[in-house]
Amino acid sequence: MGRYRDWVNLELLAAELADEPPYRARQVWAWAARGASGYDEMTDLPSPLRAALAERVPFSTLTVEDEARSSDGTVKVLFRTADEHPVEAVLMRFRDGRRSVCVSSQSGCPLTCTFCATGQMRFRRNLTASEILDQALHFRRVEPIDHCVFMGMGEPMLNIDEVIAAARRLPDLGVTHRRTTVSTVGWLPGLRRFVDEVEEPVRLALSLHAAEPALRSELMPVNDRYPLPDVVAECRRYFELRRRKVFVEYVMLAGVNDRVEQARSLAELLDPQVFKVNLIPYNPTGAFTGSSPKAIAAFEAELRRRGLPTTVRLTRGRDIAAACGQLAAAS
Ligand code: SAH
Repeated sequence: MGRYRDWVNLELLAAELADEPPYRARQVWAWAARGASGYDEMTDLPSPLRAALAERVPFSTLTVEDEARSSDGTVKVLFRTADEHPVEAVLMRFRDGRRSVCVSSQSGCPLTCTFCATGQMRFRRNLTASEILDQALHFRRVEPIDHCVFMGMGEPMLNIDEVIAAARRLPDLGVTHRRTTVSTVGWLPGLRRFVDEVEEPVRLALSLHAAEPALRSELMPVNDRYPLPDVVAECRRYFELRRRKVFVEYVMLAGVNDRVEQARSLAELLDPQVFKVNLIPYNPTGAFTGSSPKAIAAFEAELRRRGLPTTVRLTRGRDIAAACGQLAAAS
């Protein structure tokens, strides 16, 4: 793997700090990671230096364009990169006090999963580690955060270097590796790298959505490229190396993948030692109808009966189109 790119501003920062002692860049990062909102707060830096930095090194790689607040406390922010690409991130506040940030790894997504709004928008580009971290830093400036999920726009395994570099810095923001989750459709080259290279206990989630290959290909064309048995085998390798279960995400689509027989096929595919299932109520994006609560409960009961640990995901931020699969910035 190439050298990790630091917080992007660090390149500019390094130039700016060329005549300063080497610990200066670390000082600046430490302040930013603890939620400072500008150089002026960095009181252990000489004030002429703070002024010079403020003038020459942008404090974030992203600018905030819009912010929406849900009645459940969820906040969605639309950012722009310096080259004008849209990026969305979401802060979820849970009643037990957890604060979880959902970050994007790409602007748009090149994959075309039929139930996901991000797949309908134009793919722009991979984000840098700094652009990923700046999403989390934005929320960190408002309040402490303790969880991070790479479940926003894009496929993290298509941008694995930057995702790994960003994940490695999250503990400085208060998010431990155990509370960091990277989600994938099963993009094998990136997934293999993730399993081989990330020795830290970062969690893995697999977007599965159907156990039958033909149905999965219909829902997620990427399934034709990387067959499910290979993807499941790679998840098993993650479990064997890390001893941490893989979360399986399964969006519940009425009359499509929510029949009790389909729960049985899912239970046959997944080893309960390796996987836990998270059933996701479908968030409307147009094409499908979500399963009824009754159908979800029956599906869950069948999986549990077969020994597969199963939970139903709490839906957050649906009223502001901030829920799973709804991130799609206009333009
Ligand atoms: N590309 C990665 C990271 C994004 S995670 C991945 O797909 O895993 C976003 C999660 O939301 C995925 O599990 C995705 O399948 C799910 N999702 C997409 N559209 C959804 C929708 N309309 N309702 C509920 N969940 C959805």
